[in-house]
Amino acid sequence: MKFLFDLHTHTIASGHAYSTLKENMDEAVAKGLLAYGFSDHSEAVPGAFKNIYFMNFKVIPRRYKDMLILRGVEANIMDFKGNLDIEDDILKRLDYAIASLHTICRDPGTLQENMDAYFGVMSNPYVKIIGHPDDGRYPIDHDELAKEAKKRGIVLELNNSSLNPNSARLNGRENAIKLIEAAKKHGTSIICNTDSHFADYVGGFENCDLLLNQMDFPEELVLNNSMEKLKMVLNKNIDDM
Ligand SMILES: [Zn+2]
Ligand SMILES: [Zn+2]
Repeated sequence: MKFLFDLHTHTIASGHAYSTLKENMDEAVAKGLLAYGFSDHSEAVPGAFKNIYFMNFKVIPRRYKDMLILRGVEANIMDFKGNLDIEDDILKRLDYAIASLHTICRDPGTLQENMDAYFGVMSNPYVKIIGHPDDGRYPIDHDELAKEAKKRGIVLELNNSSLNPNSARLNGRENAIKLIEAAKKHGTSIICNTDSHFADYVGGFENCDLLLNQMDFPEELVLNNSMEKLKMVLNKNIDDM
């Protein structure tokens, strides 16, 4: 399958990633992506920049060597109501937002609490992507999540990093399989992202590609093969960019 964009990538602004925005952009060009999105952690992650970082993206060019640059965030879900650590006033300036649960910001809850956190954040009008819902440290019902996501126009992430054997997430592969099965059953769209914390990994979707092939997942439910489908997760119109 063709992967035209990568929207979940980190730069040094995240505090525990090791490449600059420009290095990531160069790698995205080298991989032949049509769009590259950077999504640094918002401020509740220790070491991440303060949220003022997200307020001056107008200085970053929209296009780099013919590739579209998208400005996003990976926001932290802070409680089981789905509240984030970044204000709507900032989110609305961005092109997209990924919402994720991180153990460093929110201890895992019961299955129901974790589900409530995801259902809650789905009500945020600026969030269209749930980041890595494959982390077994946060038990969830993948079937219910995919069903609700479909109903509410939310896209679930298949995270290439979670499928690496050295990932800190628990049972990433096993849970990704449950996620794919559930998405297939309910017709829920998924987005493949690398979650790169070092430039070399930007735009590298080998794990996602292999798993989707093995599971015979319908290509029409994967966003990454179409710039038209990309619009599903953006809060701004790319035709104006
Ligand atoms: Zn990170
Ligand atoms: Zn994350």
